[in-house]
Amino acid sequence: MAYEELTAVLKDARNLVFFGGAGVSTASGIPDFRSADGLYNQRYGRLLSPEEMISHSFFMRDPEDFFSFYKEKLVYPSAQPNGCHKALAKLEKMGICKAVVTQNIDGLHQKAGSKTVYELHGSVLRNYCMKCRKFFDADYVMNAKGVPRCDRCNGIVKPDVVLYEEALDQDVMNDAVRAIAKADTLIIGGTSLVVYPAAGLIHYFRGKKLVLINKSATQADTMADLVIRDDIARVMEEAVAALGQDVSGE
Ligand code: ZN
Repeated sequence: MAYEELTAVLKDARNLVFFGGAGVSTASGIPDFRSADGLYNQRYGRLLSPEEMISHSFFMRDPEDFFSFYKEKLVYPSAQPNGCHKALAKLEKMGICKAVVTQNIDGLHQKAGSKTVYELHGSVLRNYCMKCRKFFDADYVMNAKGVPRCDRCNGIVKPDVVLYEEALDQDVMNDAVRAIAKADTLIIGGTSLVVYPAAGLIHYFRGKKLVLINKSATQADTMADLVIRDDIARVMEEAVAALGQDVSGE
């Protein structure tokens, strides 16, 4: 009952796109890395912010420290999809959700069963040798001592994650823009919409219902048709459960 307005929006939706940020994965035990404490780096003699720790220049300058931060704060091998991931996978199966656009790098939407997922910032599940492009999974990186090295050519294995100072993948960005431009319903969740490109993507939406689900207020609240200030995992799970009572779940 609590989210019947959202259920009504979902009932009307024919082409739903979901755009999600870090808040989508917090219920899976993955904290926003920006909330991580900066690491005191001996060599540079100052406190580095999380953003500096995962910048391209820091990766190039000090891969050792990069990977120690990366492994500790960005990769969560045992994380499982939560109610929001599962609800979106179900909506895709029902033919309602056409795409998930995410800023998260954890691969949990795919793990929940979603097929069309645009990962704006890449994924920790994909890793490539910088020299020969050989592919490696997350375990390979996590099990490596220090900097992961290619078992074929000894090149550094780099996560397929967009670091600070690096450009977004233009193809992924174009796909996301196209999906949002075609959508009749856009749900934005778990993001405060202050980080680029989230704030920009919303302007491509020309549909009829814009829904914002976030624990705190966002800049776009006034633009939205429906604003829900609550935990996104619970909201989505309940709204889709109410919607899908006559539809058998997975
Ligand atoms: Zn290699």
